[in-house]
Amino acid sequence: MIVFKNAGKKYPNGFQGLKNVNLTIDQGEFVAIIGLSGAGKSTLIRTINRMHDITEGELTVDGVDVMSLQGASLRSFRRKIGMIFQSFNLITRTTVIKNVMTAFVPDLPVLRATFGIYNKQEKMKALECLDKVGILDKAFVRADQLSGGQQQRVALARTLAQDPEIILADEPVAALDPITAKQVMDDFKRINEKMNITILINIHHVDLALQYASRVIGIRAGEIVYDGPADQVTDEVLQSIYQGGEVHGRV
Ligand code: ADP
Repeated sequence: MIVFKNAGKKYPNGFQGLKNVNLTIDQGEFVAIIGLSGAGKSTLIRTINRMHDITEGELTVDGVDVMSLQGASLRSFRRKIGMIFQSFNLITRTTVIKNVMTAFVPDLPVLRATFGIYNKQEKMKALECLDKVGILDKAFVRADQLSGGQQQRVALARTLAQDPEIILADEPVAALDPITAKQVMDDFKRINEKMNITILINIHHVDLALQYASRVIGIRAGEIVYDGPADQVTDEVLQSIYQGGEVHGRV
């Protein structure tokens, strides 16, 4: 369970990126975060794994005070949180399976980590994760030979190899065409339902957010202005979230 209490984030230059955030997200929820570009969506999800630090209030994950973590405890905490980016962040000149196995690097002895030597069990696990996202047949193909959608699936498989409890996804389908974007969203949904992994996804495409997420959080200028079921997001709600700006992906 992720709990924010009166949390805020002030950037070093004094800019208030998040204000008075109060949220409770249960294990297994599928949450879409929507809002204008610059509203604070990315800042919000990145506080959960401490890519950004909150500067006010409290944040706990499964009862652990996230801001108190450092060193080894922060590293092991981060391992249960997967992160997916818009740009896939793969090692493009190596195979898909090796990309997935990089998830194991933090736990490997230095020698194995340095030379990328993996055992049979690790290889099997990587293959299983590729199977879960439907690209087992691409395991031994170089990552740069894959389409954008397939590359995002590799990133997803790499995240699954960490056995995450939570996946944070920062605009994961923004670089993909509409059909591929839906396929990747289908993967997120299946993983969420089958594995009970909490998914928090920043997405500027409103229709996808409403179609896939069960809960929507709307952010405007660093503040949560909507938090509720996706099926109750009316045009009025969208107007209040996107006040003065364009609502993306609404037909
Ligand atoms: P979104 O994901 O909704 O597009 P972000 O969370 O990336 O928005 O950014 C929210 C606001 O915080 C933006 O106005 C952005 O310019 C500002 N911001 C992001 N990173 C920094 C930083 N390192 N220093 C100062 N301001 C920042």
